[in-house]
Amino acid sequence: STMPPLLSAIANAGRHGVLAKSAVVMERLGQVDLVALDKTGTLTQGTPRVTDIRPEPGSGLQEDGLLALAAAAEHPSEHPLARAVVQAARERGLTLAAATGFTSAPGAGVTATVGGRTIQVGSPARLVAVDGQDIGSAVQALEDEGRTAVLVRRDGTPVGVLGIADRLRSDAKATVAALTELTGQTPVLLTGDNERAARQLAAEVGITDVRAGLLPQDKVSAVRQWEDEGLCVLVVGDGVNDAPALAAAHTGIAMGRAGSDLALQTADAVVVRDELAAIPAVVALSRQARRLVV
Ligand code: ADP
Ligand code: MG
Repeated sequence: STMPPLLSAIANAGRHGVLAKSAVVMERLGQVDLVALDKTGTLTQGTPRVTDIRPEPGSGLQEDGLLALAAAAEHPSEHPLARAVVQAARERGLTLAAATGFTSAPGAGVTATVGGRTIQVGSPARLVAVDGQDIGSAVQALEDEGRTAVLVRRDGTPVGVLGIADRLRSDAKATVAALTELTGQTPVLLTGDNERAARQLAAEVGITDVRAGLLPQDKVSAVRQWEDEGLCVLVVGDGVNDAPALAAAHTGIAMGRAGSDLALQTADAVVVRDELAAIPAVVALSRQARRLVV
């Protein structure tokens, strides 16, 4: 063909299911030294399911009551964990009360008013004050099983915990191996989730460098530190919480299917066919294109 090499690289990337926003992206992808992968929705399928519902004994709530309350508050959220909570409530045929004043804190959770009471749903570490003894041990037990524990508070008081489990993408392990081969460095995991769940999952795909409990700006700091050391970092993510790191990195790629609008807008390229394996494929392509250009 008579197409310039970088343009034909964009076309080839499209065939692999990756939409590159410019020719420059294809050039940059070829320079990547280190890949930083997000966990929820990136390394995992992003369709987590509620596995445990544990109301706090003193709360007066049963399983259905706790789930309905959490789902009402989570309803406006596009986070994969929020979708899992709403889906579980639907499966039980629960009616959700209307929520007002919804706000979300990326990497932490959501707050809304439901039935005149303030409901918070999110990370036990970030919602602070896991004061109840029972709640604390319920959280730890779930995390020891590799689950994401999500705390529910009503007017500031913990009323229960939900356990949520997500599965690895089927091509996660092969993708980590291919990226290690291409860059000479094993990818690292950046996640807002708890350390126990993150490490268990990382071990299954051969990742040992795990940075857990990160807020969006902590992901940025990690990326900046590697880039200050002279590394070109590729960040792969899907969430609102990944957007700042996608923007800060040498190159950012968003997972398209479950990806939030903000992540899709911020990234330099989008994986439109929902396969993680497309990433090493386009990195390899850009390297070939660079050789042709040079
Ligand atoms: P990751 O970096 O793995 O994609 P996030 O940064 O999106 O994860 O979320 C980090 C943690 O914040 C979650 O494990 C959860 O505890 C909490 N969290 C964030 N958003 C929500 C939400 N909508 N509902 C419940 N928990 C949430
Ligand atoms: Mg994510």
